[in-house]
Formats: sequence, structure tokens, C-alpha cells
Amino acid sequence: MHGITDKYNRTFKVLRLSVINRCNLGCMYCVEHGDDAAAFRTNQKSNSLPATELVPLIAQLHELLDLETVRLTGGEPLLYPELPQIVQGITKIGISDISITTNGLLLDRKANQLKDAGLQSVNVSLDAVDPDVFFMVNKRDSLSKVLSGIDAAIAAGLNVKLNAVILKGINDNQVIPLMEYARSKNIVIRFLEVMAMGHLHQDPWKYFYGQQQILQTIAGKYSYRQLTREAASTSNYWITDDHQKFGIIANESSPFCHDCNRLRLDSEGRLFGCLSSNNGIDARNLDREQMIYALKSALAQKQSLKFIGSELSMLQIGG
Ligand code: SAM
Repeated sequence: MHGITDKYNRTFKVLRLSVINRCNLGCMYCVEHGDDAAAFRTNQKSNSLPATELVPLIAQLHELLDLETVRLTGGEPLLYPELPQIVQGITKIGISDISITTNGLLLDRKANQLKDAGLQSVNVSLDAVDPDVFFMVNKRDSLSKVLSGIDAAIAAGLNVKLNAVILKGINDNQVIPLMEYARSKNIVIRFLEVMAMGHLHQDPWKYFYGQQQILQTIAGKYSYRQLTREAASTSNYWITDDHQKFGIIANESSPFCHDCNRLRLDSEGRLFGCLSSNNGIDARNLDREQMIYALKSALAQKQSLKFIGSELSMLQIGG
């Protein structure tokens, strides 16, 4: 027991590790229109720490926190060349619940290798099943690659979920088609409210499509009932009368800060206790006491009520 607990009894049990801050999509909620080139820096050298530095850092965190889950994210984690080594390293540390959040573009090539390395689950971001709408949101003509990536992950035996950010007037017409796609693959989909991050920091409302609107849209086709929320879950879940489970991650309408147990580590070794914080805490080369201090500082970044927005985009801090 190291006292890394706050007055709300929150601690860190889930580590979200951003392995890289580059991406191969230019999604409109992450990247400002006209700045797409900045997102596609796939040919530039990244400043990501190598696996030989990240894995020992995770081991040090695990020793203090007894982590339950590590979720690998980015940027786009499948662009990080040493991803299988990271997954193997985390497995060796003794954490078996390992997942990634990916746009799925490279998944058809990498699903089997990652499964063999010890990966258990994949959350694929899929904001549209209509190719034109996909292009409008994600700025790449690559829907079919993502769909084959999803098929490859299912075939590899990975547990697959979908995440869709719903933007008013852009892809709100995709809620039912996405539900139907998820149903056809027998996987769970979660719809996300857009968050006030990066270039949307000051004005997320122009695209805001909330939990109530999403539920109303789904009610046009399905009857459903709400399921009991699990502690520390980011998502509320519902189930349709014909047994399709779906979720909504509603940062704004149904905040979940009160029992948040997530810690973020970015690709350069900085800790963030909360998505609302713009200030990373350097976690490299710390001894045990210094790391405990860094973790307490990260915990103090957590909001008590709700996400208050951040100047950083998910590309920088890790989604
Ligand atoms: N590249 C990977 C992917 O696409 O899943 C991982 C990183 S991405 C930043 C992780 C998640 O953050 C995605 O589901 C994305 O849709 C979501 N995201 C990014 N910016 C967001 C915002 N402003 N509001 C809500 N969700 C956002």
C-alpha cells in the first residue's frame, strides 16, 4: 500500500500507453482542417521511446500500482514498429489484460502477430460505414482496409469492439448503419460524444451530438433497456430487445470522473492523470520515491466532476 489514492478513493489500475504521436488518418476531431499534413507525419522520425525503455517503465508502474490492464494507443499504435515486443514485455511483467485502440488500417497485416504476442482485445475506431462519410470524417479513402482489418482481428481470435465518434451534421446518419454493421459481425459498438480537445477545445458544440440524441436515433429502429454500469467504466451500456449490446461514452452528458482509474503515459515518457491536463509529468529515470511523488501529482490532476477540455488533441496525449 503506497497511499497513491485520493480523497475520492481513486487510484490507478488501467494504464493507457500512447506508443507514438503520429497517425495515418487525419480525423476531423483530432486534426484541424487544412492541417492534415501534420497528422500524416508517417515518414518523419518519431520521438517515441523504444520498447527497451517503455517496458521497464511499465514494470516500475506495475510494481507500485498493481495494474490490471494496459491499453496501447496513439497516434496510431500499429505504426509503432516494436508493438509486438511491447505486448510481449507487458505479458512477461505479469499483466495479461492487454488491448489496443487502433484505426484498423494496418490490422489485416498485424492481427495474427499481435495475438501471438499476447494481445487479447482490439478497439477499432470506425466512424462510418459509408465510404463518402468515412472520407469526410477521417480524410482517407480507406474504409475497405479498415473493414478487412476488423475481419482479420476477428479471425485471429481477438476480442473486437468498435468506437464511433458521432458528429452532428457529419456522420449522425451513420448511427443505425454502424449498429447494423456491428450486429452483422456480432461485436459491441460504442458511440462517443465529441470532446473539447485540441482545435475543438473552444467550440466542440458545433459538432456535439449527445447521448440523448444517439439514443433517440437508435429508438427509431430498436427498443432497448439500459444495463447497470460497471465501476470505473467509461461507457454506459444498453441492450436491444433482440439482444444487441451497445454503449455510449458520454463525457459531457454522463461524466465518469468520480471513479476514474486511468493513468496515461505518452510516447516520450510523460504521465497524465487526466485528459483535462495539459501538463505531462516526466516519468523517466525516477527512483521509487520520485515515482510515487510523480504518481501522486498525476492523481491530483484528476477532475472531481467532469472533463473540462484540453488544448492537447488525442493525437498528442494518446486516445
Ligand atoms: N489511432 C487510434 C484510433 O483511431 O483508434 C488510437 C488513437 S485515437 C486518438 C483514439 C480514440 O480517440 C478514437 O476512438 C478517436 O475516435 C477518439 N477521439 C479523438 N479525438 C476525439 C475527440 N475530440 N472527441 C472524442 N473522441 C476523440
